[in-house]
Amino acid sequence: MISQHPSDLNDVLKAKKDAFQIPDGVIYLDGNSLGVLPKNVPARLQQVVTEEWGSSLIRAWNTHSWIDLPGRTGDRIAKLIGAPDGSVVACDSTSVNVFKVLSAALSLCPDRKVILSDSGNFPTDLYVASGLKELLDKGHELKVVAPEEVKAAITSDVAVLMLTQVDYRTGRVHNMEDLTRTAHEAGALTIWDLAHSAGAIPVDLTGAKADFAVGCGYKYLNGGPGAPAFLYVAPPHQDKVMPPLTGWMGHEAPFAFDLDYRPVTGISRMTVGTPPILSLSSLFAALDAFEDVDMNDIRKKSISLSELFISEVEAKCPQLTLASPRDPQKRGSQVSFCFEEGYAVMQALIARGVIGDFRAPDVMRFGFTPLYLSHQDIVDAVSILADILETASWDCPEFKTRAKVT
Ligand SMILES: *Cc1c(COP(=O)(O)O)cnc(C)c1O
Repeated sequence: MISQHPSDLNDVLKAKKDAFQIPDGVIYLDGNSLGVLPKNVPARLQQVVTEEWGSSLIRAWNTHSWIDLPGRTGDRIAKLIGAPDGSVVACDSTSVNVFKVLSAALSLCPDRKVILSDSGNFPTDLYVASGLKELLDKGHELKVVAPEEVKAAITSDVAVLMLTQVDYRTGRVHNMEDLTRTAHEAGALTIWDLAHSAGAIPVDLTGAKADFAVGCGYKYLNGGPGAPAFLYVAPPHQDKVMPPLTGWMGHEAPFAFDLDYRPVTGISRMTVGTPPILSLSSLFAALDAFEDVDMNDIRKKSISLSELFISEVEAKCPQLTLASPRDPQKRGSQVSFCFEEGYAVMQALIARGVIGDFRAPDVMRFGFTPLYLSHQDIVDAVSILADILETASWDCPEFKTRAKVT
């Protein structure tokens, strides 16, 4: 008989697992990096390719509303992050969207020169900020402080506070509402990267009065590899910002083919070029899985799974050190453990069907996706991890060669 953990018996999200295609023998703890395939996506993609593209051809921009897909997808994401309709658009990559919103935010406060971020931010966000600063050549400074020092560093010279809400390495969560309030009191604007928040924890952009946000379509939203990202601009800013990438999709009348650029009103001015309909269709369909779930139920189960994971690992794998906050309220939907040979251990784990990932220098990262994981999965995963550590089966050359993607 397959054993079942008692917490799985009253799991309100239990039936959701059927909506996803999970390979036999795999326990997937990496939905924070690439979400699994929702079962409805292949058929939807097939339909878009053969019927819409194949038969309707260019007419489909109108007949199948392809042209509105970035906004329609954005509206679905908006519901998960506490944003109103018409304030989110699905487009480009997270990196490109960081560039766009940071540039837009800086243009709203020309007299201030400091972009404040933290050392827990995902490097691409910092790289983009540093590149933009060089490109603008207006004397901006990128100030990077430790995550716990952010609040004290919000001074009256800060133009924009740019943070990732959930730390990609440790899962530590910033208090969005409190930091946004502090930033506003100091006269600064805020940009929140929700890459590890959207679809993982309840987010309330409106309640927190966030100014801008970006996030990822291929992590907890399950949009598929390289899925379009999203961006949010608070309604009061939408018609004030000058988009930095002034492409025709953000024009007031793209099909007037005017020679002069005039930004359209609303969130669409933050779009640039022709939307990628195939990958947007995949993301749009993937969001069906969230249609009838409450983010508070997701959060509750995520905490339950991660608490179980920590207690099991600490009981059975004394070699590992917790790298995430112990207080579940201060963690996103992931748990990380440090181990010097973490890379090799993770490869050994993956070879046995338990898929997590590794972040340099020594972080083994495990993501918890309540839509398709059970408590029994957690117990089973940790028992395999404990066996690998006990037998040191990770200690062989095949697990130590670093692949291009870790
Ligand atoms: C995953 C992630 C990204 C990824 O950016 P891409 O442009 O999609 O490669 C950016 N920022 C954060 C915080 C992330 O976690």
